[in-house]
Amino acid sequence: MSADAFLELDGVDAYYGQSHILWDVSMEVREGEICALLGRNGAGKTTTLRSIAGARPPDVRSGTVRFKGDDITDESTENISARGVSLVPEERRIFPNLTVEENIHLSGVSRNWSNRVGRALSFAEGGLSNEEVYAQFPRLDDRRTQQAGTLSGGEQQMLAIARALKQGGDIMMLDEPYEGLAPQIIQSVEDAIRRISENGMTILLVEQNAVAAMKIADRAYVLDQGEVVFDGTAEALREDEATREKYLGV
Ligand code: ATP
Repeated sequence: MSADAFLELDGVDAYYGQSHILWDVSMEVREGEICALLGRNGAGKTTTLRSIAGARPPDVRSGTVRFKGDDITDESTENISARGVSLVPEERRIFPNLTVEENIHLSGVSRNWSNRVGRALSFAEGGLSNEEVYAQFPRLDDRRTQQAGTLSGGEQQMLAIARALKQGGDIMMLDEPYEGLAPQIIQSVEDAIRRISENGMTILLVEQNAVAAMKIADRAYVLDQGEVVFDGTAEALREDEATREKYLGV
């Protein structure tokens, strides 16, 4: 494991049944950074997140996933989540018929782990209090009594992130948080991700919108047909026109 790696994939091969999807994927996310995982539709980004989070399928048939040096490849999603790895899935998973307040309340702290974001905001353990969550998301504060299903797409995304933040954790993996959002709304979700990062949360940001992701990422990986085809700083990727055109279409 490299000295900097916080979350590390080492030679991961993942399958859905007989379909071999991830091919020898190695990557690392360093503590405190925003790391982007980019690639076209179907490149294997969600499969990578599911492989890390212990969600099955896919089956990880070879290779290792390590978090803070521990091998978590074969652990359950519950254990991995309790270690402080949180996943905000693409479908956002909020309760549309409940209010914003009820949604946040229901993601109450059920675990007991030391938490960097919590510590930064002077909470020794667990996630944030409701009020701290609202302080991070003023738009949600204004809409506490509104039914979540009636929020805009951007507000629903913020609510999904707020719920993950309330639960705590050391690394947040976001699956396509900008999907379906208008450019000015993307900006406000971007701001929210930046704020969370500044408070000490490590971020793995999966996006098809490479331009937006490169704006806030420190480093990036590009996947194509389940293989890592680029690995470097976001700045290097911005300057690598050939890779951007070939694999990201931008
Ligand atoms: P997207 O932007 O569409 O989410 P992605 O990069 O996240 O793309 P994945 O969802 O990881 O891509 O999909 C990678 C490949 O795995 C695709 O070819 C997809 O069809 C296939 N795949 C995804 N989920 C399953 C599944 N449950 N069973 C079989 N094949 C699947």
